[in-house]
Amino acid sequence: MAFVEFDKVNFSYREGEKNAVSDLSFSLEKGDFVALVGHNGSGKSTIAKLMNGLLVPTSGKVTVDGMSTENEASLFDIRKHIGVVFQNPDNQMVATIIEDDIAFGPENLGLPSEKIRERVDWALSSVGMLEYKKGTPFRLSGGQKQRIAIAGILAIRPDVLVLDESTAMLDPEGRREVMKVVSELNALGMAVVMITHFMEEAALAKRIIVLNEGRIIFDGGREIFAHAEELNAAGIELPVCTSVAARLKKMGYDISEQIVLPEELAEALCRL
Ligand code: ADP
Ligand code: MG
Repeated sequence: MAFVEFDKVNFSYREGEKNAVSDLSFSLEKGDFVALVGHNGSGKSTIAKLMNGLLVPTSGKVTVDGMSTENEASLFDIRKHIGVVFQNPDNQMVATIIEDDIAFGPENLGLPSEKIRERVDWALSSVGMLEYKKGTPFRLSGGQKQRIAIAGILAIRPDVLVLDESTAMLDPEGRREVMKVVSELNALGMAVVMITHFMEEAALAKRIIVLNEGRIIFDGGREIFAHAEELNAAGIELPVCTSVAARLKKMGYDISEQIVLPEELAEALCRL
């Protein structure tokens, strides 16, 4: 059995209302790096909440490490495995001193105070914010606050880190900071589910799952970038460099349709 498994999951927020997600089946393993993309309202946040048991399926089943999210007695354990960082860091801060904020999760796990201190330091240094330990979160930039929010979840040491549009409010620099941290954590073996509507970010993942109207319409690798029309139909904008490459291809140039990053486009253009 996979570490996280969605088996034919349907969910609607109210009885009789149309499903927010439909017929979802996919699985994740420890160490995976998956991007979950889709337009607004396509069901991304619903999936994040189904994964840590904040919501339970209307039908079908979600299991984490063999435990069903339907089983309330397992929720505490499930949330140790699945850490979710939401979009707005201001709603995720609970204390006025950064180290207290980060300690909140490990304290709830009932860890001894020495272990808590260790985890706080580890989590803060993982996101490059150790020097701010004694400070207050309120004066930080958006990127810094979001890194603190990530540290708060890291301190729980989840096996899976879910970032629900956690970079959406950041400027490009802040976004790069967070993405760098996330890639490093993945390299250390933490699974990452990155929810985003930036296809450039999605391209960093080994696997890309595309949602439309609550259904998975694609689950695979970078070959998705060659499907411009389907992506556009699903309300997803292609990265600029991908569109340029696609147009050149249409004009008859021999260029890959899987170009995403500026460096890749530059290289292809030089070759042409
Ligand atoms: P995304 O994160 O991709 O923008 P969501 O998972 O938030 O999408 O929403 C999926 C669908 O569920 C949308 O149609 C949205 O309007 C609906 N929805 C989301 N949250 C709620 C809620 N709390 N109550 C009722 N409907 C909701
Ligand atoms: Mg959302």
